[in-house]
Amino acid sequence: MTMLKVANCPKCGKVFQMNLRSLCQGCQRELDSEFDQCSAYLRDNRKASTEALSEATGVPVQRIYTLIQDNRLPVSFYPGLTYPCKSCGSPIRQQKMCTPCRVRIISDVKDLENREARDRGAGFQIRERFSRG
Ligand SMILES: [Zn+2]
Ligand SMILES: [Zn+2]
Repeated sequence: MTMLKVANCPKCGKVFQMNLRSLCQGCQRELDSEFDQCSAYLRDNRKASTEALSEATGVPVQRIYTLIQDNRLPVSFYPGLTYPCKSCGSPIRQQKMCTPCRVRIISDVKDLENREARDRGAGFQIRERFSRG
């Protein structure tokens, strides 16, 4: 039996076959054209901020965040681009969370590990926490 991996497109909700990009084809195409608009603008405005880019292209900032995090708009090349920390929303340029939030999470994880050391079998709690992001 072949397992067909399907999911709901996170953008439009349509059921589709999972691919590497985790969007349905229609939305993927839309994202590609948005990407084209963004990179065209950035060609002349390499230092534009995410907000300025969104305003100039009409592409919603949320989508620009996705492009940045997919590394299609690499922050190393576009110094003005940022996306929000997953936890507190402050603008960041790498990882999923800002440094203070990461430090907090790491100490949370250490806490959990300590608890796990006391009580073997609690390991699933740590994994659960990670997968929830
Ligand atoms: Zn879709
Ligand atoms: Zn944060």
